[in-house]
Amino acid sequence: MGAMATAAAQYVVAVRALCEFTAKQGDLDLRFTPSPTAQEGITGHAVVASRRSPGYEAEVSLSGSFGPLLVRGRADGYDPRLNRLEEVKTYRGDLGRMPDNHRHLHWAQVRIYGHLLCQSRGLDELQLALVYYDIGSQKETLLTEHLTADLLRQFFEDHCRRFLAWAEQEMAHRAARDLQLTALQFPHADFRPGQRVMAEAVYKSAVSGRCLLAQAPTGIGKTIGSLFPMLKASPGQALDKIFFLAAKTSGRALALEAVTRIRHSAPALPLRVLELVARDKACEHPDKACHGESCPLAQGFYDRLPQARSAAIDAGALDRESLRRVAAEHRVCPYYLSQEMASWSDVIVGDYNYYFDISAMLYGMASVNQWRVGVLVDEAHNMIDRARKMYSAEMEYGQLKALRRNAPPALKRGLDRVSKQWNSLGKEQEGDYLHYAEIPDAFVSALLQAVADITEYMVEHPAAMDSHLQQFYFDALHFTRMAELFGPHSLFDITRQSGQGTTLCIRNIVPAPFLAPRFAAARSTVMFSATLSPWHFYSDTLGIPADTAWIDVPSPFTADQLQVQLATGISTRFQHRERSLAPIVDLIAHQYRQQAGNYLMFFSSYDYLEKVATLCAAQHPEIPLWLQARRMDEREREDFLARFTESSQGVGFAVLGGAFAEGIDLPGARLIGAFIATLGLPQINPVNEQIMRRMGETFGNGYDYTYLYPGMQKVVQAAGRVIRTQQDRGVVYLIDDRFARPEVRQLLPAWWHVA
Ligand code: SF4
Repeated sequence: MGAMATAAAQYVVAVRALCEFTAKQGDLDLRFTPSPTAQEGITGHAVVASRRSPGYEAEVSLSGSFGPLLVRGRADGYDPRLNRLEEVKTYRGDLGRMPDNHRHLHWAQVRIYGHLLCQSRGLDELQLALVYYDIGSQKETLLTEHLTADLLRQFFEDHCRRFLAWAEQEMAHRAARDLQLTALQFPHADFRPGQRVMAEAVYKSAVSGRCLLAQAPTGIGKTIGSLFPMLKASPGQALDKIFFLAAKTSGRALALEAVTRIRHSAPALPLRVLELVARDKACEHPDKACHGESCPLAQGFYDRLPQARSAAIDAGALDRESLRRVAAEHRVCPYYLSQEMASWSDVIVGDYNYYFDISAMLYGMASVNQWRVGVLVDEAHNMIDRARKMYSAEMEYGQLKALRRNAPPALKRGLDRVSKQWNSLGKEQEGDYLHYAEIPDAFVSALLQAVADITEYMVEHPAAMDSHLQQFYFDALHFTRMAELFGPHSLFDITRQSGQGTTLCIRNIVPAPFLAPRFAAARSTVMFSATLSPWHFYSDTLGIPADTAWIDVPSPFTADQLQVQLATGISTRFQHRERSLAPIVDLIAHQYRQQAGNYLMFFSSYDYLEKVATLCAAQHPEIPLWLQARRMDEREREDFLARFTESSQGVGFAVLGGAFAEGIDLPGARLIGAFIATLGLPQINPVNEQIMRRMGETFGNGYDYTYLYPGMQKVVQAAGRVIRTQQDRGVVYLIDDRFARPEVRQLLPAWWHVA
């Protein structure tokens, strides 16, 4: 909700948000969405404006008050010659199938704008028009009505009145929250070493409106060390919300725990926290579709929403379970209730993609409502890989082939056209992999047409959507979106799979151009992790603003806690692998003899892991070995970790970059050492070589940006498993002659003393 309590006790609300609150009714119905792509929407609006006569005003900024409410927004267009105010909606498919409650909402919006326009221009009456612009046929359908300024004012006042009680409750909440935040004390008796340094840096960056990259070691309490200062800075900076974004569920859990601790330490603080959970995890009826005819929790959703919303704010802390409970009590969908509650929560905890991906909900809401937000990004070393995935798109020919066999007749022609264009791609290609400078227009337009056909088909046959068609549709839609945005930040490549046709990939390499607007939209973004070196690698690839501050929080651990040994007489390169097996086994046995206990041994691949494990088991049957297997499920992973106890002894074999190489916590005797038999370098293959070339062209440092930095980041993360507390003692063996090179050594943490 576009909501800000200003000094004069004014409550600012966007027209769209006001109408969504007061004019939504009936079923939740997503059948008329997904709507056109953002680009299509923008183009649609531009086309409509270009068809109007001279003097037509597009994007008219309007605002008006009602009591403490300041309602504002931008109407799509006003034609003074016709005295007509227009609200433009782009769509695909059959307009007749648009649910009534969507139309109802659109009318509410244009009438509110109508009042604001009459008021600002002193008009006595006005024609209002809903302009529905069909992306496919480029035709407009106009619905019009003529209303007097007086009627429009009544309409406006009526809607404001319906919102007023809620707005007053919100203002009171915000005032109480900010008052308590100003007085908030750190929830622990004292800061841990390093934690104060980090907290001060976060506070400063929030106050100065800058971003911060914080490299901070494990164990200093980064979660609360970032959340607390951001909360403290909130009242002074008039922050509406804080988004805590994590790469994994475990990060979300830590954040929720930290908020709980803060709430317990300050019982008078009315802090509303919300956990966002992916739709497939939150959905109560995975076999149903999100509309009233299919799902009982979508039926009448908006009619029951006001009560559910009130109950949810009373609950205060809305983690997955409590939100589910409230939703069940009010018979509404928990997933869509959580989306609604994002408007009314102070701290929102969710995955990165809620703010950073192409259609990110939190980013969208923050822009529409002009929220001032503080963004915290946990374990930020994951951002590059995650963001690349968000802005890449892939399609396999096999999927299209299977779909064509069973496609409904209405879609056949469009899919055939896609197939024909697809087959002409890479025809001349020699070899299995090649990248191309451009994505052929003919292919993209065939795909766009197929997407349009499927959209229309979905609108007309909502029940007939099968999962293959749906999957293809989403993949194709994403592909066309990324094709629209194609540029030097990405590669377009074609890979030939034997017997299965080709795979087309728009492969994002540098997510910076996509992420930069996200950083710019936040008041301050703090990205933190134990491994964010070297800075330029992260700031270049992520598009962090040039004035970003960075800190390297000194480690609370001392060099004497960790013995770092280099085993440089061994090469773990692929061609030397066989020769490395025996020396590695000797090294493990030697260390185990010196000090029996729990160790982790990391390899670059399962194959390598198995070879060393076989030899080790044969030569040293006295050493218990626990092996990571390919594709372990959550339970198996827990069992693996459960072997590491205070009194156990053995060596866990794992893969670098896998489930046990980061994000696990084995303090004290549960882990006393690690062996790392790899530099973690990504495999040399045509894709990575191409990435290296592009990185070289973009940043002048192709090898390091593609291989060395990502590899060493994994090595340091894995080694970071050994020392978790100031009482821990341990050993790390870095096995490979390349660890002796200065450019590699300088990427190791400063507090390590390498023997
Ligand atoms: S419960 Fe599932 S199917 Fe029903 S509306 Fe929610 S997400 Fe959609």
